[in-house]
Amino acid sequence: MPKLYRWFCTFCTFEAATNPQRTTCPRCSHALERRLATSMEKLNADEIKIINLMVEGLRMPQIAERIGWSEDKVGRYLQEARAKTGTKTNPELVAECMRAEVIQ
Ligand SMILES: [Zn+2]
Repeated sequence: MPKLYRWFCTFCTFEAATNPQRTTCPRCSHALERRLATSMEKLNADEIKIINLMVEGLRMPQIAERIGWSEDKVGRYLQEARAKTGTKTNPELVAECMRAEVIQ
């Protein structure tokens, strides 16, 4: 399971291990800021748009029609998004993005 979040203190630059239970800095008690893991930050707007359509239940041909791309092009973007997030299948990619709150 890849780490989805990093926790930062913007005051003293402390970086915490992923732990959703702890939201204050152990050094200065400043609130920690949650950021998406690097693999999720790498997704571009087009990839997120396609993943959002998959969440709506659209299949590849429908997604291609909706955004006016060829199925091959949609497939290439999904392949790239899977490579960036370290996921193997499209359902796995969608689940990973939902957990990371990349998509709404
Ligand atoms: Zn701090």
